[in-house]
Amino acid sequence: MANTSNTEVKCVKCKNVYEAEVIDHVTLDEDRELIKSLRTGKANRVQCPKCKKVMFLDRSVVINFEPENRIVVYDPSAKKKTDKDQLIADYNSVVSFNETLSEIGGETEFSVVSKLDELKGLLKEYEKAHS
Ligand SMILES: [Zn+2]
Repeated sequence: MANTSNTEVKCVKCKNVYEAEVIDHVTLDEDRELIKSLRTGKANRVQCPKCKKVMFLDRSVVINFEPENRIVVYDPSAKKKTDKDQLIADYNSVVSFNETLSEIGGETEFSVVSKLDELKGLLKEYEKAHS
């Protein structure tokens, strides 16, 4: 199952602020049904309880490409190279803290993707290799 959390969302239509459950972390071999919505940028669908307006949140999702040693952070707001470098530095500092993680970290390819097209390509490759 995907890891989720609650976040505050402001409705673009009626400005109502509400809590919604959003996806933070996806493991592809367990969450195959999510591949399609990830590919179309619609993984995080929320609906305003007041006016029923549906929105797709453009927020970051960590995607674990199990069984491949690849972790991709899809972050549409990390457009600049410095943003991506920061995310990679954060990842490396978390990994170096923990002995078990640093073993995994050494074998895992970690990357940051901000363009949906790029993510689409990675997901297509994955589906081809693991169908
Ligand atoms: Zn609303």
